[in-house]
Amino acid sequence: MTRTKPKVAFFDFACCEGCQLQVANMGELLLDVLGLIEVVEFREVMSEKGPEKIDVAVVEGSITDKHAIERIKKIRDRAKVLIAYGSCATIGGVNGMKNNFKLDDIRKEVYGDRFNYFDTVETKAVHQVVKVDYFVNGCPVYIPEFVKVLKAALQGIPYEVPDHAVCVECKLNENVCMYDRGVACMGPVTRAGCNSWCINNGNICYGCRGMVSNPNENGAMDIIKKYNIPMDMVINKMNMYNKCREIDKREQKKR
Ligand code: SF4
Ligand code: SF4
Ligand code: SF4
Repeated sequence: MTRTKPKVAFFDFACCEGCQLQVANMGELLLDVLGLIEVVEFREVMSEKGPEKIDVAVVEGSITDKHAIERIKKIRDRAKVLIAYGSCATIGGVNGMKNNFKLDDIRKEVYGDRFNYFDTVETKAVHQVVKVDYFVNGCPVYIPEFVKVLKAALQGIPYEVPDHAVCVECKLNENVCMYDRGVACMGPVTRAGCNSWCINNGNICYGCRGMVSNPNENGAMDIIKKYNIPMDMVINKMNMYNKCREIDKREQKKR
């Protein structure tokens, strides 16, 4: 008897589609995953549309207008399981920078005099609009983690995004700390799980996987003071990906 493979569909909202590209370029790992699933919709690699009911929706991008709100609710209704993947989807990501400004000012800047033709709303991560079952953080996603999460979703077992700092992985990889080079790095307050990808390649951590739930703020402040790093620079770097965190805090206060 042939077993039906789970139907998996990929969707994108406001984003650069870099995470879809990461998936499309997975190489041998993709073949491994394709053995387990039937991809029924994936705009970047095929033109077919999936059926009304799907097993897994894999969603990239943030929710930034009213149409997107309606669309993500429909996708949620179609899917047994929803995976948010990439920073845009899991934490709002770079699109969250819009929330630093008044919405009308943003629309005028982008669309000029005819800005009223184009609606916009406060940028939200997917879980701030509909229920999300699994999160794959990162800008772009770290493919070994994506495969792990997809397999967990297919087996119906939980996946917890690591909640310790990137510094832990960075130390295990024996990198020279960026602070010792006089450069601010967001590793001390950012969730691990990418194997300190950027620092291994000579860059800083920009905080793309979102903040740990209980950041060691005093420790981070000590480092910032010790190395004489301007505070506004650190806040701006952290806000580049994490501005939508304020929406979670606002919602928690209402409860
Ligand atoms: S998380 Fe980064 S790479 Fe992925 S879609 Fe958003 S901006 Fe692009
Ligand atoms: S601050 Fe950055 S460079 Fe230093 S240990 Fe942490 S992650 Fe690595
Ligand atoms: S090192 Fe930081 S910025 Fe780079 S992928 Fe990991 S969490 Fe993202």
